[in-house]
Amino acid sequence: MDTFYDHQLAQLIEQEEHRQYTTLNLIASENYAPAAIRAISGSVLTNKYAEGTPGKRFYSGCRIIDEIETLAITRCKKLFECEYANVQAHSGAQANMAAYCAFLKPGDTVLSMDFSAGGHISHGYSANLSSQLYKFTFYTVDPETERIDYQKVDSLAQQHRPKLIIAGASSYSRIIDFEKFSAIARSINAFLLTDIAHIAGLVAAKIHPSPVPFADCVTGTLHKTLRGPRGGFILCKEAYGHLVDRATMPGIQGGPLMQQIAAKALCFELALHDEFKKYQQQLVSNTATLACELQSRGYRIVSGGTDNHLFVIDLTEKGITGVEAERTLEKAGILATRSSIPFETKRPMICSGIRLGAAAVSTRGVGDAEMLIIANYIDEALKKKSDDTSLALLKDEVAAFLEQFPVE
Ligand SMILES: *Cc1c(COP(=O)(O)O)cnc(C)c1O
Repeated sequence: MDTFYDHQLAQLIEQEEHRQYTTLNLIASENYAPAAIRAISGSVLTNKYAEGTPGKRFYSGCRIIDEIETLAITRCKKLFECEYANVQAHSGAQANMAAYCAFLKPGDTVLSMDFSAGGHISHGYSANLSSQLYKFTFYTVDPETERIDYQKVDSLAQQHRPKLIIAGASSYSRIIDFEKFSAIARSINAFLLTDIAHIAGLVAAKIHPSPVPFADCVTGTLHKTLRGPRGGFILCKEAYGHLVDRATMPGIQGGPLMQQIAAKALCFELALHDEFKKYQQQLVSNTATLACELQSRGYRIVSGGTDNHLFVIDLTEKGITGVEAERTLEKAGILATRSSIPFETKRPMICSGIRLGAAAVSTRGVGDAEMLIIANYIDEALKKKSDDTSLALLKDEVAAFLEQFPVE
């Protein structure tokens, strides 16, 4: 077959590559996957159908595919020290849907974290399918400390008797006590699902306590702190393995994305090495340095700081909304996500806060000293929010700064 070359698309991809390298990415859910992982994602494995699991396929020609998926599963189990793993989920939201499908019947009650306190859309957000299938009730954070109030979670659990409790968030900067969640779940005979989509890399590097000993099921993504290909995974006890496999396929998915599963196998392998652990340590240190510096410049950090790879700034006192801050920063070549704050009063498109994370910049080799420079860029940009000329100048400065930190 003649190689078809699409100039239009090639040009757009080149432009996107340039954008990724020349902007300061503080989007907490993004990272730069290594070139080897990206190459595998673009391999011939995309051609193969392999519905089923290794050794039990609904297609012929799966001998090598079986070896690849087995490798991914074995490495995933080793990395997270778990009994059982399914690596087929197309994304984190799919992993959660599969977990619901495995452990719940439509109409069952679920207790999860409120969206504005940091929960994820797939945890029963009103516009997500999960909220139509199951009866969600929510816990939030303590209004004073802005941390999870485990006693409140317990009393809500006793009151609503959910079949499933979800622990895990998208915008929560503190350690989550999975052991406490597990005690609460056990006291009412509920299943515990822990969603480590954001903190998977920290858990893999043992910087955040692992939920594996405490949870019935763990879901996660590879493309955030784990620095892998886009996709999800599910961990569980051996006894639930069959349920989870069936919930994934035929429950909610068809054929697995074998090119992604092979890339996941490499991601899990890389995460087993010392270099990855060092990266995670630097990531947590960088995030704390950024939060601390911004705090000293008068920004209010939700919960007063961070233990992980992200934090949320409450911009209410600064008289700027989350969406305004997001747009202003983008004009200065800095990318961040507007974010709700606990007990949010603004609409989700507006928001009162901004979420910052250091996963992507840490991959570029940025250290604590540079985080102070980055804090200055953020502060300067927000102060010059109505001055497009200054923001454009700042954007050039940011791009020049990033030249010292090339992306692989
Ligand atoms: C990012 C995230 C997900 C979903 O990941 P996708 O791959 O975007 O579907 C699920 N749960 C939490 C807590 C997340 O932060």
